[in-house]
Amino acid sequence: MNEFDVVIIGGGVSGCCTFYTLTEYSDIKKVAIIEKETKLAQISSSHKANSQTIHDGSIETNYSPEKAKKVKLSAQKVRNFCLKENLQNKVIYSMQKMAIGVGDHECEVMTKRHEEFQYIFPGLKFYTKEAIKSMEPKVIEGKDGGDRPENVVGSGFDSDWCAVNYEALSEYFIQKAKEKNPQNEVFLGFRVNKIEPKNAGYAVIGADGREIYAKFVLVDAGSYSLPLAQRAGYGLDLGCLPVGGEFYFAPNLLKGKVYGVQNPKLPFAALHGDPDVFVEGKTRLGPTALATLRLENSRHFFDVLSPELLKLDLHLDVMKVTYDLLSDSEIRNYILRNIFFHLPFFGKRLFIKDAQKIIPSLKLEDITFAKGYGEVRPQVVDRTAKKLELGEKKIRTGKGMTFNMTPSPGATSCLQNAMVDSEEIVAFLNAKFDKERFLKELSPEELQ
Ligand SMILES: Cc1cc2nc3c(=O)[nH]c(=O)nc-3n(C[C@H](O)[C@H](O)[C@H](O)COP(=O)(O)OP(=O)(O)OC[C@H]3O[C@@H](n4cnc5c(N)ncnc54)[C@H](O)[C@@H]3O)c2cc1C
Repeated sequence: MNEFDVVIIGGGVSGCCTFYTLTEYSDIKKVAIIEKETKLAQISSSHKANSQTIHDGSIETNYSPEKAKKVKLSAQKVRNFCLKENLQNKVIYSMQKMAIGVGDHECEVMTKRHEEFQYIFPGLKFYTKEAIKSMEPKVIEGKDGGDRPENVVGSGFDSDWCAVNYEALSEYFIQKAKEKNPQNEVFLGFRVNKIEPKNAGYAVIGADGREIYAKFVLVDAGSYSLPLAQRAGYGLDLGCLPVGGEFYFAPNLLKGKVYGVQNPKLPFAALHGDPDVFVEGKTRLGPTALATLRLENSRHFFDVLSPELLKLDLHLDVMKVTYDLLSDSEIRNYILRNIFFHLPFFGKRLFIKDAQKIIPSLKLEDITFAKGYGEVRPQVVDRTAKKLELGEKKIRTGKGMTFNMTPSPGATSCLQNAMVDSEEIVAFLNAKFDKERFLKELSPEELQ
């Protein structure tokens, strides 16, 4: 009864999406998904955890044109899926979005970038200070009520399906898959402790001793994918630098997403502002970026260190990578600034200075710390190459077990990753995946 062709560990958006993709587009008979929490998508894919953005590369100024072309294809799969399923205003939301440059240097950078990127994103619009004033008045309104003194230009879209509640999307993937094949199972409240070879496949063993068997195991356990891989003897050359991200709430001050010019040395989006798609009437500002010792945000006050992290990171190579990062003055200042953001009294006063780049008239009393919001981004450290990986990481064992580590923009890439993993799984199991239908429905551009 507890025997499956494929077991997916982790019920975040990555796992739920592959559960759906295999059910809908492959001929694999029995798939299970295992989640340690009692509800799906409560960690990074929760509506509280992430920035609710489909990152397609059009306004993410730290993406090169090559990276933008790639993420655009991932993004359009999520967008097309939601529109095909009529999930407008339930899972996916439309709003204006722009990246802004503030001051002469950033305006020059934005202008150049816009010219380069408008060929990748037809319809991408350039906004002057006047145009931004009519679209997002609060971005131009200065502290004294007049216009802010610096020049501001922007690049973006008047409207775009660019905001997603990834928690709702995860639940929808599971609902669709269960409707299609009720034999496929969802196990909640099941914390996987280890994966061991058994017969021709694997035994997935829970912390409470329960066992589930699979021919192929896909691990989409977020921050815990790497500890699970290392327990199974893989990814031993990798470490993890967990970076926590938190948010502040302000009243409804922005109509759409406003991103700033980002530092290309940093693997995640810089501070931005946008309307929360779940909490009505609130603008969200953030995320901050604080190096932490936890693999997931703790639900307990005294729980400040994930013991698994010691095993991952107590290596000279990881310390060397951290030392090298800190030797770069831009990164060091960024990290220090983010540490200060978390100090009582001073933190909020410092944070508001960064947020005022987006909304200059923002006052201290306008913002409140969004308690319980945000999560940890598990950035992978490659100990052999002695560098921080800027993005996702996959460990393929070639033996019926694959591990995914999916920091930002992992939610945007869920269908792309599901397609790649499904292809690998069917090849291993000698099954079929209808890639043509998958692409026809979700990314027809790739078929041409
Ligand atoms: C502050 C912040 C902002 C972000 N903003 C964006 C954004 O705007 N757009 C975007 O695309 N991405 C964004 N991201 C990244 C995005 O949230 C993640 O890439 C994505 O949610 C990862 O999904 P996942 O399913 O791989 O991991 P998760 O959602 O973390 O799911 C992993 C699941 O595995 C479960 N699990 C872990 N260990 C075990 C175990 N031993 N047994 C059973 N289950 C286990 C966990 O409980 C969890 O449910 C952001 C992330 C952060 C932290």
